[in-house]
Amino acid sequence: DSGFPTDYEIAQDADLEHITDVVEPFGLTEDDLELYGDYKAKLSMDAVERLKDQRSEDSNLVLVTGMTPTPMGEGKTVTTVGLGQAFNHTGRQAMIAIREPSLGPVFGIKGGAAGGGYSQVLPMEDINLHFTGDIHALTAAHNLISAMLDAHISKGNELNIDPNNISWKRAIDMNDRALRNMVIGLGGESGGQTREASFLLTAASELMAVLALADSLEDLKERVGRIIVAYDEEGEPVTVDDIEATGAATILLRDALKPNVVQTLEGTPALVHAGPFANIAHGTNSLIADQAAFGMADWVLTEAGFGSDLGAEKFLNVVSRFGDVEPSAIVLVSSVRALKYHGKDMWPADMDELEEPDVEAVEAGLENLDKHAANLQQFGVPVVVSINRFPQDTDEEIEAVVDHCESQGIPAGVSNVFSEGGEGGVELVEKITGAVEESEADFEFLYDTEESIKSKVETVATEIYGADGVNYVDGAEDDIERMEELGLDDMPIVMSKTFHSFSDDPSKKGVPKDWTLDVREVYPSAGAGFLVVLTGDVMDLPGLPGRPAAADMDIDADGTISGLF
Ligand code: ADP
Ligand code: MG
Repeated sequence: DSGFPTDYEIAQDADLEHITDVVEPFGLTEDDLELYGDYKAKLSMDAVERLKDQRSEDSNLVLVTGMTPTPMGEGKTVTTVGLGQAFNHTGRQAMIAIREPSLGPVFGIKGGAAGGGYSQVLPMEDINLHFTGDIHALTAAHNLISAMLDAHISKGNELNIDPNNISWKRAIDMNDRALRNMVIGLGGESGGQTREASFLLTAASELMAVLALADSLEDLKERVGRIIVAYDEEGEPVTVDDIEATGAATILLRDALKPNVVQTLEGTPALVHAGPFANIAHGTNSLIADQAAFGMADWVLTEAGFGSDLGAEKFLNVVSRFGDVEPSAIVLVSSVRALKYHGKDMWPADMDELEEPDVEAVEAGLENLDKHAANLQQFGVPVVVSINRFPQDTDEEIEAVVDHCESQGIPAGVSNVFSEGGEGGVELVEKITGAVEESEADFEFLYDTEESIKSKVETVATEIYGADGVNYVDGAEDDIERMEELGLDDMPIVMSKTFHSFSDDPSKKGVPKDWTLDVREVYPSAGAGFLVVLTGDVMDLPGLPGRPAAADMDIDADGTISGLF
């Protein structure tokens, strides 16, 4: 035990300000907030609209992404929160925009998703549990659509929906593998149409992606209506509009659309809103939160999930296309332990072994970092490497990374935001602002949406993943033909691939060579506005381990929680 306090202990010691006082220096008053107690609020839609118009010409978005991580994560959220604090620490106005955690994973493997050390958003137990109810609202809206769909089928099925071709599952925010595959509609005629069905995690619902991309209530409603829930006997899509569920589902989401505002340990405001998956969806917080943040501050820090090959690629090729949110700089988070993981070509990860000092392994792992940096530079945005310093890292290991980045001409800085808070990110802030000042922004997408589906997939596979090409297996070719027939082929693509490797094989570390990407399935998320391209099995409803973290949790008579973090 290092004697360093736990996240929960640090959080308990913090003096929180009333949320109204936190946002006041950023031009908001109590009238702009819908309060959920003293420390949480939603921005009213009037405030959001006003903030969108207030965006200044010189506002900057900093996108935080990472190298191929170990299963523990390399500190993107910690870095995003810490950098927000660091920008404010240096006298600049900064806002943080990150995803809201979903409940399911909290009880499985220990760990929250609200930063860590001295770079956390608070109140962390609220944020990690029910928060302001957004995810519960999504669950309700999702299941309303499911119920209306099954009611339609069992009460006459006027739309001729094919019960064997239903793409809309049911949703729950709990890791419960027993609900992954089931038969519903038992109990005779009064039980409805008997069919196979399944649940997914609410965060994996297309409604979550829709919420995260909608920029107004009107836009939300249009997107909800466009979602394809099933196909009829002729193979034609059946949408939420077709089953007349659009209005009611949107009513349930009306508050969920409003960004949540909380604060960091240092009183920096943070918008924590929406949390779509980074494999079957785009994996970043809501666009509406980004847009509101631009109206409040000159610097907006946001995080994209998993490695840069997944979250950042999607932010740049998909989210930036939908909203006016091209980054001014990209921070690429690296860690000594992740570099060793690649350098040692280790699979599966042995986290204890990765704690042992090993400069040679660090150096051998740098090719993974280099490829992430080169990939991101293709978009025409300056890249700054952040070396997230962990307690066990040696000076020699850290220097090896700094020296290498210097030799490659990539600005790099050591981040101590976990152990020091904002002060530990000042060096990095100077590197970021320097890179932004020097760069001539010439952002460009990697592909045009009008290109064929195959051309878009091949661009990402070869230019980001480093594949030699693409194999279409199972029904993927048929899916692509079908998308073309339905006129759904001109959307950007969201690739679902393992985050453990640049390749589709999780055991391959570093920069895998001489391989081709297998594409298995392509389906539309027509409400969100992208095509999902599956390269392997997607786990959209995880299970709990034999002894889940939940078994160690407790609450005292006075309300004190233990075992949560
Ligand atoms: P990501 O967002 O990239 O998945 P997180 O920021 O959530 O990663 O960090 C992953 C885990 O590592 C968290 O438990 C976090 O508290 C911890 N962590 C991150 N940075 C450090 C650090 N510098 N020292 C110690 N622990 C850290
Ligand atoms: Mg994170």
